[in-house]
This record gives sequence, C-alpha cells and structure tokens, in this order.
Amino acid sequence: MKRTGTKKRKRRRQNRYGIAAAVLIACILFFLFFINRWRIDLTVESEDFTRIEYRSSFENPGASAFVTGSILRTVRIPVPVKSEGSVDTNWLGTTFLTYRAEVLWMKAEKKIEVRVADTTPPVISLAHIEDFYTLPGQPYEEEGFEAVDDHDGDLTDQVTSEEKEGFVYYSVTDKSGNTGRAVREIFYDDREAPVITLEGGDAVSFYEGRDFRDAYSAVDNVQGDMTDKVTVEGEVDTNTPGTYELTYTVTDDFDNTCKAVRTVTVKPLPKNPDKVLDQNKVIYLTFDDGPYQYTDRLLDILGRFHVKATFFVTGAYGYSDCIAREAKEGHSIGVHTYSHDYASIYRSTDAFWSDFEKTESLIEQKTGKRTSLMRFPGGSSNQVSRDYCPGIMTTLVRQAADKGLTYFDWNVESGDAGGTTSSAGVYQNIRDGVSQMGVAVVLCHDVKSYTVDAMEDTILWALENGYTFLPLTSSSPTAHHGVSN
Ligand code: ZN
Repeated sequence: MKRTGTKKRKRRRQNRYGIAAAVLIACILFFLFFINRWRIDLTVESEDFTRIEYRSSFENPGASAFVTGSILRTVRIPVPVKSEGSVDTNWLGTTFLTYRAEVLWMKAEKKIEVRVADTTPPVISLAHIEDFYTLPGQPYEEEGFEAVDDHDGDLTDQVTSEEKEGFVYYSVTDKSGNTGRAVREIFYDDREAPVITLEGGDAVSFYEGRDFRDAYSAVDNVQGDMTDKVTVEGEVDTNTPGTYELTYTVTDDFDNTCKAVRTVTVKPLPKNPDKVLDQNKVIYLTFDDGPYQYTDRLLDILGRFHVKATFFVTGAYGYSDCIAREAKEGHSIGVHTYSHDYASIYRSTDAFWSDFEKTESLIEQKTGKRTSLMRFPGGSSNQVSRDYCPGIMTTLVRQAADKGLTYFDWNVESGDAGGTTSSAGVYQNIRDGVSQMGVAVVLCHDVKSYTVDAMEDTILWALENGYTFLPLTSSSPTAHHGVSN
C-alpha cells in the first residue's frame, strides 16, 4: 500500500514538471517572436547623396546586412546584400544605387544617389617665345595660349583676354560654369637706340670767322624727340682754321646709346682775295645811296673777308664818317649825288653838277681826295629824268666824259631796289646773276639791312667758287646800259 502511494505521488510530480517546462518554452517563444521583433539591419558605407568628379574613379561603397532583434540586439547574423545600378564617371548625371537584403519574411532596401559632376575649371597654358619683349607704350602682341577642359576639350577659341597695367588677364568658362584663369606679366624692353641726325651732314667746312650753328636732332623709337638729351663733346673755334671733331651722344631710358661724330673744318680765308684767279670770275660789288646806319656793319663783314667793294655815296642820310672808313679800308668811292632827289638833280645840268660838286667836296673832306668815279641815280638809262628835263642824260654823259669822269651802270641786280626784301633773295639774285655774267658789276644798296645781312653768304659762295672781288677803278668794266633820255 505504501509503495502504491509512493508511485502515485511520483507521477503527479512528473506531470507538474512537464507543464512548467511547456509554459516556459511558450514564454520563451513568445518572447523570441512577439516581444523581440526580428529585422534586417542594412548599412551602406556612404551618404545618401554623393557627388563625385567627372572621370574620377568610383568604387561602389558596398553595404552590409545583419539579421538582428529589436531587443536581442547582440544577435547579428550576416546576410548577403545584392546591389543594383552602377556609376559611370565618364558621363555627367545622377545615378541611384540600390542595396537589397532578404531573409524569410524580412526585407531591407536602401538607395543612395550618386551625381557625376564636372567641377574642374579649364586649364589655360600660356606660350612664351624666347627673347620676346614689348616696346613700352605699345600694346602687347600675343605670344599664344591654349585652353583645355577635362570635359569640354579644347576651349582655346573661347578664351578672352584683357591687357591692363602691364599684365594680361585670360579667362575661359566651361559648360559646367567652371572658370579657368591665367595671368601674364608683360616684359617691356627697348633695344633700339635713338637716332641722331646732324643737320648739314657729318662733315662741314666753312671759312674762318663764320658763324657755326650746330644743329642736330635726336629721335627715339619709344621716347620720341630726345634732342634736348644730346650731349656734345668737343668745341669749334670758328676763328682758328683747323679740323675739329664734335661727338654727340644720347642714351634712352633702356640704356641704348647713339653716338654721332661730325668733322668741322674751319678753312683759312684766302690771303689775297683781290688776286684774280680767273679772268672770267670777277665781282665788283657796288653799294649805292649810303652811307647809312648799316654801313659800318657792312664794312666789318667786307673787312673780315678782305673783300674790296665800291661805294657810290650820297649825303642824304648823314653817317658821312663812314666815307673815310670806306676809303681807308681800300674800297673805291664814287659820287652818286648828294641829295639823290631826281626832281632837283635832273632839273638841269647845272643843278646836277652843282649837287655833284657838293658830294665831291664831302668826299674830299672825308678822304682827302676827289674821285673820278660816279653813278647816276637810276643809272644812265633812267627815263625818270625825262619828266624833269628831256635829253639831260645825253648831255650829262658827254659832260662827264669831258670832266674825265667814269660813270658806271651795272649788269647784275641784287634786287634790293625792287621787289626783293630778304637776305635769301638778295643772295640768290646775286648768285644767279654772277653765275650768268662771269664778270659782274653788282648793284646793291647799303641802306638795306637785309642786303648787308646777305653779304657773308654771298662772299663765301663766291670765294668757294673761285671768284675774285675787286673795287672799281676808271679802267674797270663800266657795264653801261645805254642812254635813253
Ligand atoms: Zn641810287
């Protein structure tokens, strides 16, 4: 009885254990699948949005997935991930990459966006020509450039450039809006020296005592007129015959130097200018109407060149002391009448000779002797005298011969009694007339300042061309015109 009772108790106890175990299992299962929820945890190793550079290498970031519980988080069972889509960095645009994992009822999916973009600006390469330079003040001449973009290719023809304060700024923008720039510093230089021009040439020669005006100019390709920067070395003593050298130097701002040399020959004046070198080249300079305020200056010039001339004097202006000087310095003196007034001297022969005598007295007073040389006012051919006394010239000419006088006309006119009013004109007229006549009696007036000023050039031209200057004497050519009243 006792044993039976024990068996019964044992079986009851076993039943109780079974129930407890079942409840426990149920509880565990309930916990595992209802309280704890299973899911797939999918992780992509990238941001949701990625921007990558055109043509750069792109690696799929990849993804990992685990099955894990909402409470049992430490449970991590790896599961495979499938990825869809691909990124080609050779094309601009947006691509989506999709990652998926799937186990039993559980699914997980994730998308990321990948944008292939061009953010690299074009590259401008500047060409440099060896030894290239730009003249200051001149625009820069392009040496060349090239522009290449990693996406758009050659953009050279779209490059714009601007020159500003010694620099050139280049820029070009590609289709994606990226701007590439480059800057070039302009190299300025000037390797050309200024040019010196010597007026009159690099060899000049003239007689002693002449004024030498040293004229020159300098021009630079960049700086323009540099005449005032020229330095002149050497000196010319125009009163001492010899050969002189003048050196002209000018340097521009870029150290380019120009040098020029001029040889100046100061020739000695002919020692005997009254020695006839050529019978067909003789000049008798005659000066009428003075003395006047310019006569002394004329005598200075004639004296400097040892040239002897002839003065047909009047008493019309005073300055009669000059007559003494004229005679003293070896010039010939002739009568031209005292008043030089046509109305009074050509009124009658008596009136003429009375005026004539007045002049002779003046000459005698100033020089100590009378003269046998004369010139009629207006010349022997004048017709003005007819207004006052018809036929008077015919008589006067005969009377002059009777008195032993020699009257002179002329065969070359300086023009200073007529239309010529400049030294250059006087010089030219005498030069032309003398060249034509060979032996020339030249009519000039020492009452004209510009005539006196023309004498230096006239004398020098004549000396340089082999002419001899002589004063008139009673045996000189008379150059008569022929009487016409
Ligand atoms: Zn006159």
